Amino acid sequence: MDKRQKKQMQFSVIYLLIALIMAWVFQSLIYRPMVIRWSEVPYSEFLAKLEAGEVAEVQVTQDRLLYELLPEMEGGQGRVYNVVRVDDPDLIERLVDAGVSFSGEAPPNALFPLLLGWVIPLLPLALIGYIGLRRMGQAGAGVMSISKSRAKEIEGERTGIGFRDVGGADEASVELKEIIDFLTDPERFTRLGAKLPKGVLLVGPPGTGKTLLAKATAGEANVPFFSISGSDFVEMFVGVGAARVRDLFEQAKAKAPCIVFIDEIDALGQSRATAGSLGSNDEREQTLNQLLSEMDGFAPNIGVVIMAATNRPEILDKALLRAGRFDRQIQVGLPTEQGRRQILAIHAQKVKLAPDADLNRIARMTAGFSGADLANIVNEAALLAVRHDHDSVTMMDFDLAIERIVAGLQRRMRLKPEVKRRVAYHEAGHALVAYLQPDTDPVHKVSIVPTAKGALGYTLQMPDEDTYLLSKQELEEHLAVMLGGRGAELLVFNDTSTGASNDLERASDMARRMVTEFGMSEVLGPVRYANPAGTGYLGQMNGLRQDLSPDTARLVDQETRKVLDAAQDQALALLESRIDGLHKLAEILLEHEVISGDEIARVIGPVEALVESEEPAPAPA
Ligand code: ADP
Ligand code: MG
Ligand code: ZN
Repeated sequence: MDKRQKKQMQFSVIYLLIALIMAWVFQSLIYRPMVIRWSEVPYSEFLAKLEAGEVAEVQVTQDRLLYELLPEMEGGQGRVYNVVRVDDPDLIERLVDAGVSFSGEAPPNALFPLLLGWVIPLLPLALIGYIGLRRMGQAGAGVMSISKSRAKEIEGERTGIGFRDVGGADEASVELKEIIDFLTDPERFTRLGAKLPKGVLLVGPPGTGKTLLAKATAGEANVPFFSISGSDFVEMFVGVGAARVRDLFEQAKAKAPCIVFIDEIDALGQSRATAGSLGSNDEREQTLNQLLSEMDGFAPNIGVVIMAATNRPEILDKALLRAGRFDRQIQVGLPTEQGRRQILAIHAQKVKLAPDADLNRIARMTAGFSGADLANIVNEAALLAVRHDHDSVTMMDFDLAIERIVAGLQRRMRLKPEVKRRVAYHEAGHALVAYLQPDTDPVHKVSIVPTAKGALGYTLQMPDEDTYLLSKQELEEHLAVMLGGRGAELLVFNDTSTGASNDLERASDMARRMVTEFGMSEVLGPVRYANPAGTGYLGQMNGLRQDLSPDTARLVDQETRKVLDAAQDQALALLESRIDGLHKLAEILLEHEVISGDEIARVIGPVEALVESEEPAPAPA
């Protein structure tokens, strides 16, 4: 049960108590006096009065006798006596003998207090109980018919949030623009027969603004936003989650164009394999199946776009990522320095900044912070300003706030300047070596923003086309790129660091395969030295065939080493030839944290002229 549900439960319990107290007060104030007027007497006393001729009138009901005495008698004045009707076969005879008027109808003045005393106080009670149950139903824990009541609650929110409220997510925004175009004018797409993806998965570390982006997309397209969180489903009774998904889609289809957002979809869409067989969650699976069938069930042109967010895409059930489902993924990474500045500016709008509060400086100090962390910093700084009686939020408040949040996020990295410098050169090295070898995949982006997975930076290469096979030369160039990071560190700092260990692992692995699987070593020749694919097991350390002589094994090592040495020499030579370029790239990275492939081209200049210097480049036209 989440906080909201708990609150609602408390809410209805409080109301139940109030209703009970009300009923009790009602009983004692209104009903009781009537009981006094309406005294209960024993049957024997009634008979005595009857025989004495003091009874004026009797009303006989199913199980009671109500009578009044003659007005002149003691206790007569309009008082109604109430007698439990005993099984007396002579009753009618006695009444006739006594000559009193009697009737068999239920007396209205006896029903009235009954009504007043019991039914009316019970009414609010019943009503409140009903509302309480309905609320619980809506929150997902109820047993009553959830379907309709829940659907009413999810009217579809008008978020009122736009991309102006999201900082540092330009790339994601561009990708989402198409979705917005589709939602604002679905006809335009369907007329041409274009199909838009039904599902868009936002992938990124926590707090990077995935939920915010989804809302902003709805806001920009000005369509209703239906949202539900995967974790809501976890505690539900079997069947409730599936019913809710059904309702959600029913509502959404009625309100199309609109966006359906499933937050934290990993809680729901965890693959059966990773979920673990123990405690297998039928409810989760049912809900997931319902979601899948709903997604398949509607036509792509009705104008419902399903967005989902996760920070663990790798554990998602593959069924979710199949074509026609969440087949488009948008990465929402940690913000760059510029992004952080934007995010800080957005959140600082809500507070009063002192003139010395320098958002640029704060952005520079907060590498690795998420949007949520930055929002938190602004808020924390404002709180500190209040506590220190400042008129506005000063730089000192920000510094303290950052310190406090860093302390809370120890596991996250805040890089020291010298570490950042090394990372910048390392990544610039990869990028430059890649750029200087035109046959390798072009560099798309280089970043020194630490990733959530712990990498300090990365160089992203994107193939122009699918590669089916690689030549020896291409593999060698690839190796040079892998070793380019380490090479740059060697050139500039005259030593290496642990940052290159992953590069080395990948490079060694590839070099070894060149030698043992691809027959690319002249010394060892076209022989396979590696185990047949799929037969290696842990005991066989290096995956070499068992029947190799120790000498051959040593030779394999030597040849692998030779391939790697050559690649490193190539990387160093390339870097040395363009050392100015390396410094420039590193500087840009230090300043902006990211650099695009186009910018690299601009900074370094054309390649042909320099690498193939033996063949003079054709004179420019
Ligand atoms: P996620 O869904 O990725 O975990 P959220 O969208 O819930 O992150 O972000 C939480 C809060 O952090 C947002 O409400 C917002 O205040 C702030 N935030 C996160 N990213 C950004 C951003 N890019 N721009 C502005 N604010 C952000
Ligand atoms: Mg979120
Ligand atoms: Zn590297």
